[in-house]
Amino acid sequence: MIEFEIPFVCLIFTSLIFLVFFLKKKVELEENFYYKNILIFTLLVNTTNFISHYLASIYAKKNISDTFAFVFSNINKLGSLFIVIITINILSYILYISYEKYRKNFKRNNIINTIIYLIVGILIFLLKFNVYQIGGITSGQGSSIILTFSLAFINLIIALIISICHFKNYDKRYYAIYFIITLIFLLGIFVFFHPQFNIYDLILSLLCYLMYFTIENPDIKMLNEVTLAKEQAEKANNAKSEFLSSMSHEIRTPLNAIVGFSEDLKEKIQDEEQKEEINDIVMASESLLEIVNGILDISKIEANKLEIVNTEYSFKKVFDELVILTKARLGEKPLDFRVNYDESIPKYLYGDYARLKQIILNLLTNAIKYTNDGYIDFTVNSVKKDNICRLIISVEDSGIGIKKENIDKLFSKFERFDKERNITIEGTGLGLAITKKLVELMNGKIVAQSVYGKGSKFTVAIDQVIVNKEEKEEEIKHVTHNDFSKYKVLVVDDNLINLKVATKLLESFKLKIDTCESGFSCLDKIKNEEKYDLILMDDMMPKLSGVETLKKLQEIKGFNIPVIALTANAISGMKEKYLSDGFNDYLAKPIDKIELQRVLEEFLTK
Ligand code: ADP
Repeated sequence: MIEFEIPFVCLIFTSLIFLVFFLKKKVELEENFYYKNILIFTLLVNTTNFISHYLASIYAKKNISDTFAFVFSNINKLGSLFIVIITINILSYILYISYEKYRKNFKRNNIINTIIYLIVGILIFLLKFNVYQIGGITSGQGSSIILTFSLAFINLIIALIISICHFKNYDKRYYAIYFIITLIFLLGIFVFFHPQFNIYDLILSLLCYLMYFTIENPDIKMLNEVTLAKEQAEKANNAKSEFLSSMSHEIRTPLNAIVGFSEDLKEKIQDEEQKEEINDIVMASESLLEIVNGILDISKIEANKLEIVNTEYSFKKVFDELVILTKARLGEKPLDFRVNYDESIPKYLYGDYARLKQIILNLLTNAIKYTNDGYIDFTVNSVKKDNICRLIISVEDSGIGIKKENIDKLFSKFERFDKERNITIEGTGLGLAITKKLVELMNGKIVAQSVYGKGSKFTVAIDQVIVNKEEKEEEIKHVTHNDFSKYKVLVVDDNLINLKVATKLLESFKLKIDTCESGFSCLDKIKNEEKYDLILMDDMMPKLSGVETLKKLQEIKGFNIPVIALTANAISGMKEKYLSDGFNDYLAKPIDKIELQRVLEEFLTK
């Protein structure tokens, strides 16, 4: 019979767990600290036990010498101390997962634990440990052993009681604790009454093994950490979106006033110099608005909140609008703007034309911004297969070009190149990042080519569905009605400046205008049977919001006036939200004159 067989196997077994645990990449948590201690001291207990059993087997048939007794008792005392340290760590682990206060004092608790180790160590070494031999088996007894078992027992009992009391608060993975502590208990009691079965080595190795695969597995911990980090990031992102939404609202409201009043002044003032200055104010406000919109767009895309809204559209109408907008942006620049559409592109397509416009307009605007003379070529080609038409859109310029090393960084957020040369060109470095994300959302591709100093070419390929139908009459001859003098509009807004701005804008369409400052007075007016042809309603009003006012209006018998949502809240999906709330259309502040005209034409002249 080889007496050190079990300790040897346990030593190997714990060493393996030790290696796996320490070599594996893991997140460093305070909680791990206790398991690390349990593992290290188990390995040490296994080692002292193995040495003690090995010595015992050598001396089994010999008489116990003083030297042997000295070495044997001290090695066992050391092992006893390690066992107490392990149970203190089990207790600390339970305290740590059960009490917030204990977690907060992590460092202080560790100092206290170290002091306890020292005191227990001194006591164990001072107390008696008698070595004796019965039937060839070397063993020990004495107050040192009694102290060890008592302390281990007390620690485990307290740990068990605390864990039972906190059962409800534990994460499911901690349920294994009950099984582990109970098992150690039962085996401990067994060893106490049958010291000849020296199996506490086995108990401890088993403890490390069970903990590793249940509550301390580094993979599970890492996964938990990742999930936690993800949740936190999502929370932060939501907070950011909310902040941006309210920021957008706050910035748009004063901007609305600036743009509105400046536009009005521009028409009234005769002095050319003053007119130019006011024009600058309008332009500056518009670029500020563009920046706000850019920041909103990128955060919407990053929060996966930007939705692609596919509808049927007329290719020519959308692309002609782009050309008109680009020509207006060219201003005084002596650039040759050349447009070339493939004749065979179907008249009607199905896709998100608003986002497509945004993509192309970003490229065209950049071409204008970064080209001082020469040309801009805007070309649209197509490849058709079944009912899909792949639009291949390219914007080529003879501008300043982009250095080779910058091409890869072109689509990253906030990247701007040649800062010294572009110092006078406005921009945030968001345009191309948004463009690329939009192209990807629409399952398309974008490529940039450039020769520094010569020019750049951006090519976008996007698939759109072909719609087979005849061209509609009305879209060919686009009539504009500028005189709406027979119609009366009610504007509802709690902000007086906003009311003034809206009134000024509507006056330019020669409309009859009435205003009111709350949903309640709007309801009163309708109940008093005042006649309106259209209502423009702000949403964010105190006490009764626009949406709530609309719901109440719809309850009035015979109410059939179109209601347009008027709001500074331009965050993603707002148009869809307002339409689903029952509004007939949506106008974002600052009110765009062309958009307003579209709404007036649609709801007053049809
Ligand atoms: P912004 O124009 O607001 O700075 P963009 O994301 O649209 O941001 O563009 C990023 C950078 O790429 C610009 O700052 C500019 O240096 C460069 N760039 C973009 N388009 C062109 C172009 N057509 N010609 C030269 N440089 C360009």
